[in-house]
Amino acid sequence: MGQLFSSSNSEHEDLASSFTKYFQKFKTGSKIIPQEIINSVELSMRKGNIQRANSAIRDALKEIDSTPLNVAITGETGSGKSTFINALRGIGDEERGAAKTGVVETTMERYPYKHPNMPNVVIWDLPGLGSTKFPPKTYLEKMKFHEYDFFIIVSSTRFKQNDIDLAKAVGMMKKEFYFVRTKVDSDLRNEEESKPQTFVREKVLLGIRLDCVKNFQESDIAEPPIFLISSRNFGDYDFPILMDKMISDLPVYKRHNFMLSLPNITDSAIERKQQFLKQRIWLEGFAAGLLNIIPPLNLDSDLETLKKSMEHYRTVLGVDHRSLQSLARDWKMPVDQVEAMMKSPAVFKLTDEETIEKRLSRYYQEYCVANGYLVIENHYLRKIFYLKYYFLDIVTEDSKTLLKEICLRNNLVSN
Ligand code: GDP
Repeated sequence: MGQLFSSSNSEHEDLASSFTKYFQKFKTGSKIIPQEIINSVELSMRKGNIQRANSAIRDALKEIDSTPLNVAITGETGSGKSTFINALRGIGDEERGAAKTGVVETTMERYPYKHPNMPNVVIWDLPGLGSTKFPPKTYLEKMKFHEYDFFIIVSSTRFKQNDIDLAKAVGMMKKEFYFVRTKVDSDLRNEEESKPQTFVREKVLLGIRLDCVKNFQESDIAEPPIFLISSRNFGDYDFPILMDKMISDLPVYKRHNFMLSLPNITDSAIERKQQFLKQRIWLEGFAAGLLNIIPPLNLDSDLETLKKSMEHYRTVLGVDHRSLQSLARDWKMPVDQVEAMMKSPAVFKLTDEETIEKRLSRYYQEYCVANGYLVIENHYLRKIFYLKYYFLDIVTEDSKTLLKEICLRNNLVSN
């Protein structure tokens, strides 16, 4: 990273390879721009064509921001579709804008639910095939199947013929689909209550899976991957695996926004978000650094940029004020007490002893020292770049702290 802000013409070669090398840290399914673009940026730089490298990066960033993602969720009424949609959007069933749960489906129309933090991500609630009574092909046409990136077919019992017929039709349209078997938490609970002597959790889960598989085999279709989940507890069971699979299957430009829209249910989901955001900071920093302009000192606009970045990280990693407030309500404690568990809420809260300039310089120094970088004062571009990384690290830690606290409290409630 040290190379980034020292570009003179003779150093373009080094700069080019440091650009590419940065992305080697990320697995193919976790990159936010295509390998061809990474290669072409490197090539442009090696040839000394800085403008072209810069505009390729800017175009890639625009592509990430403007690419929509549409997910279709379908399943028969009562399957847990609305609860699943709410959990995907990180919205409580009783919150405003939530999909209504526990009601019998009456509509024949699809309904779009925009993700509250990532408006390019839209989760479409499709009426169950059974409710519409259309044959699968007509159903897909009426539901405008071509507009979705993939389908999730939800069931809370064995997959029914409708689900299987639909999967066949979706497959014929060359669309990706995933089977989700919801409510496994209540299946486990029921089994444990009815057979306390012989209950073995893994055995019950395997039984549910095999039962689903049998259904597909009886219908003569190759068994698709089936994900056993509980919308009451996304961090448990197969949702984390489904999440990784969906992200890796997506075209590269669709990954960034979808990943950031997903709930912060495990440390590894949080880290994956961090990796995506890091790549973005790198791209933005690189594009700015390439132009080799030392911008004039403008604390106000730099401060705005930094505050906005911080807000964005906090929102997508679930430690923004609104999320903390909602947890504080659930936990029946003042929000200040929840905020006091983490570092990010205090970053821009000033004290009498320290001006904002001093505060940011202190953070910058802390970050440089911790990572073995040279502290160069008065290099604003570099400062902003490192501060973004530092803020992202702080928010990532906060998000993990919060997750730990949530798990702890959930365990206390369930024991
Ligand atoms: P829909 O008709 O398919 O939209 O189904 P809903 O989402 O309204 O769910 C029907 C009922 O099942 C509601 O009472 C939900 O609270 C409950 N439910 C949904 N998913 C789960 C789950 O994963 N676990 C448990 N225990 N209950 C669930």
